[in-house]
Amino acid sequence: MARLLAYLKPYRDQVVLATGSSVLNKVLDLMPPLLVGWVIDSLRGSPPHWIAALAGTSDAWSMAVVLAALSVAIFFFESLFQWGYQHYFMTLAQRVQHDLRLDAYEKIQRREIAFFEEHRLGETLAMLNDDVNQLERFLNSGANDLIQTVVLFVFSSFILFDTSWRLALIAMAPIPLILSGSLAYQRRIAPRYKRVREAVGSLSSRLENNIAGILVIQSFGAEAFELDRVRQASAEYREANFRAIRLSAIFVPVIRMAIVLGFAGVLLVGSHWVLEKQPWLTVGQLVLFAMMTERLLWPLVRLGQVLDEFERARASARRTFGLLDTPSAIREAARPERLERAKGEIALEHVTFAYARGDRILDDLSFRIAPGETIGVAGPTGAGKSTLIKLLLRLYDPTGGAVKLDGHDLRDLSLEDLRRSIALVSQDVYLFHGTLRENIAYREVGTPFERVVQAAKYAELHDFIATLPEGYDTLVGERGIKLSGGQRQRMSIARAILKDAPVLVLDEATSSVDTETERQIQQSLALLAKGRTAIVIAHRLSTIRAADLIVVIEDGRAVERGTHSQLLALGGRYAELHRTQFATAEVP
Ligand code: ADP
Repeated sequence: MARLLAYLKPYRDQVVLATGSSVLNKVLDLMPPLLVGWVIDSLRGSPPHWIAALAGTSDAWSMAVVLAALSVAIFFFESLFQWGYQHYFMTLAQRVQHDLRLDAYEKIQRREIAFFEEHRLGETLAMLNDDVNQLERFLNSGANDLIQTVVLFVFSSFILFDTSWRLALIAMAPIPLILSGSLAYQRRIAPRYKRVREAVGSLSSRLENNIAGILVIQSFGAEAFELDRVRQASAEYREANFRAIRLSAIFVPVIRMAIVLGFAGVLLVGSHWVLEKQPWLTVGQLVLFAMMTERLLWPLVRLGQVLDEFERARASARRTFGLLDTPSAIREAARPERLERAKGEIALEHVTFAYARGDRILDDLSFRIAPGETIGVAGPTGAGKSTLIKLLLRLYDPTGGAVKLDGHDLRDLSLEDLRRSIALVSQDVYLFHGTLRENIAYREVGTPFERVVQAAKYAELHDFIATLPEGYDTLVGERGIKLSGGQRQRMSIARAILKDAPVLVLDEATSSVDTETERQIQQSLALLAKGRTAIVIAHRLSTIRAADLIVVIEDGRAVERGTHSQLLALGGRYAELHRTQFATAEVP
């Protein structure tokens, strides 16, 4: 909560205005019982003396007029303060929500990739959406409820005790009952609501999963099977809701009985005292008591709910701030070394790596690439080739050893310099919702159109784009046109051309394209690699034939190294991989 207060700090004036309006509104809201009491006593000839002083006479009618005028004023200010607290709490909630969301997003997008691989997408989105919204909801209404309940309690008990402490004790007798009842209810309903939330969570992730996997469902004809699973999840949700509703429906009637006890007690004992003409109670005071008791006790019923909202907001705050306070595992050095433009020398020195859960993927791997050289990395599926790319981009840090660029350990470089120095070309390119032009020039928003076209031409993408009716303004990504594997790879080549980084990492295509396309892509890549250091991760071997050096990894170790012809002559793992690929290529 202290952290949430820190977010309120820039808006201190609004906090004061909101809280002040809320308190004053509640105080004025409690005036009508007092007014009614005063009117009755004035009419019956026993007015509070300040009213007579205000009216300048003890004439009953004049005093009634003064009180009527007073109530108009009270209602006016009450409405004014109601506007005040609603307005200020709502604007506060919106501002804090906005600040918090941006902070959370900024933190999340800097988190290490492992974070995203370990958390489900829905979970991360829930943090950005639900938790932040929960805090907004609390500021919107919960904070005000809490303030007003406290004011109500303090102010009305002050008035009641001031008017007649004897009757006040009776009026307040049910409070312990109401409070303990509410708290007990809260304790018992909380797990049921939790169950409801869990049930709705699994229902919606089931629905989401099924819609996303509709292709599989339809192609397997699994509609009935899936309907059954959805039916089951939905039924669990329904049952969980029933259990919560059954309990919550009893609560209000039961508490009502406790309130009635206080109310009836005040009427009964008060009437008795009035009839006996006891000096400590007038009729007006009795009416005041009856009305005030009713006003005091009802909101206490809601106290449980208000506390519940408060608890929820606290849990959300804890999660959000937990996220905000966890630094990324991939962190820049305190004083990072700056690189203007890297020469492009890459070195792996005794690199060892294992994912958080799992075996060693890379084991004491070392090699060095001189600026401008092209190196090919080959090896069977699962050997750790893609993992190597993640280490080069510093999406992960090695468990042992070091990866170096121009002799600097990647951990000592600024992340910006590092990632500016390396362009990744892969078929696995993510297209953001937007036009082809925006996607090619990604991040370089101001890139002149001619340069975008030029890059597309280099990447052999231009001719395809020219056939589209909307050309470079065609939408891609979500709800846009879909690109084939080959086209995606060319998109990423075009992006890399514009990025103009000294080091290229080519994650060579995993899904096959026809031979002609492959040849064209090879040409573009060769053009792109000219004058740059290139690391080619070859899932197929044809791409790295011309590499200056080929490293073959297996079980995370470099088992062979040499040029294509040297390795073939060696007749080892590489030659074997080559043979199998050649053989499968022959099989139709
Ligand atoms: P390659 O690219 O050579 O096919 P990868 O580098 O993708 O191999 O994978 C190497 C090994 O690491 C595989 O056994 C794979 O299951 C494992 N692996 C890949 N990514 C992760 C991850 N995020 N967490 C845990 N294990 C992973």
